[in-house]
Amino acid sequence: MIDAVRWFLARVAEYSLSAVSSWDNFTAAIGEVLGTFTRLTSGLAWPYLLASVTIAGVAYRLSRKSHVPSAPSFSAFLFPRGVYGHPSAKLDYRFYLVSALLNVLLIFPMLAGISVLAGRMAKAFLIGYLAWNPLVTLPAPGLFAAALGFYLLHDFMNYCAHLLLHKVPLLWSFHQVHHSADVLTPVSAYRAHPLEFFVSAILRAPVIGLAFVFYENVPAQDVAITMISGISLVGFIYGFSGPHLQHSHLPISYGPLLDRILVTPLVHQTHHSLDPRHHDKNFGVKFALWDWLFGTLCLPDRHESLRFGLVGSNKDDFATVGKLYVGPFQRAGGLIRGSLTSGPLTRSQDAVRSEGL
Ligand SMILES: [Zn+2]
Ligand SMILES: [Zn+2]
Repeated sequence: MIDAVRWFLARVAEYSLSAVSSWDNFTAAIGEVLGTFTRLTSGLAWPYLLASVTIAGVAYRLSRKSHVPSAPSFSAFLFPRGVYGHPSAKLDYRFYLVSALLNVLLIFPMLAGISVLAGRMAKAFLIGYLAWNPLVTLPAPGLFAAALGFYLLHDFMNYCAHLLLHKVPLLWSFHQVHHSADVLTPVSAYRAHPLEFFVSAILRAPVIGLAFVFYENVPAQDVAITMISGISLVGFIYGFSGPHLQHSHLPISYGPLLDRILVTPLVHQTHHSLDPRHHDKNFGVKFALWDWLFGTLCLPDRHESLRFGLVGSNKDDFATVGKLYVGPFQRAGGLIRGSLTSGPLTRSQDAVRSEGL
């Protein structure tokens, strides 16, 4: 056990420092940042962005037809100055610049360390302990079914992680950063404290480990039929579903059925809503299916106007990039000190939520 922990710490240190360990690695890491809009593995690749703009274009046409007061032009509809020039949006832009570099140079390499450890532990458990014999071949339909299954499992663990980020007061201290945005733009999606990534990564680790063992003996050329430009076909298709509009001012619904399956713009914007009826609803990240299945889905009327942000919080606590990074540690420290002096964090579950939201 101690050996495994020591091995993990060594891997994390190795991965964390890999980006700055040589000039070549450093330029490769910077290239990763610059390739954000061209690599299909990046959620911001231009074909996906174009699909989101097209969906917004359809919404604009429909809004004009239905005589709902609309913007004078598509550009004003898509980029209203009141949203994109809002101080909260400007803070999102600054936070994004800092986090993009920090993530590539430090956080993502550490997450890669967790994935490697997950694969190693899964192999030891499934093959070493349970004596599982992983498949060496699988027909194409089986490979596609496995790709979809792992994609769904991965998303389900993200749903669970998001639920914990809301329900556990210590974790909520960090997730508040994401909910502190007063207006939503696609950049707001990146307003997230790095600690969140570790919570999600730890919950996803068993799925990553299982996938690692499952695919280990399947020839790469077989698996390649379920991939396109380094990304799974399922992820590629999902990229065209308009995920950038989740964080936007456009409460677009895809209809009663798709709103129950996909996290559509209306579904995620409801999650950010200040209305108490919407609190602790819609935890899904890609699929609303989990919310539908577990009773946490809320679909408001799409004409309802939603306001976003944190109720009862001091806006000044979330006013700068530095405060978004450091503030959660201070609030979490305060919670721990409070629990040491007045008992465990049980009562505070609701108290902290109502203070925080
Ligand atoms: Zn949330
Ligand atoms: Zn969000």
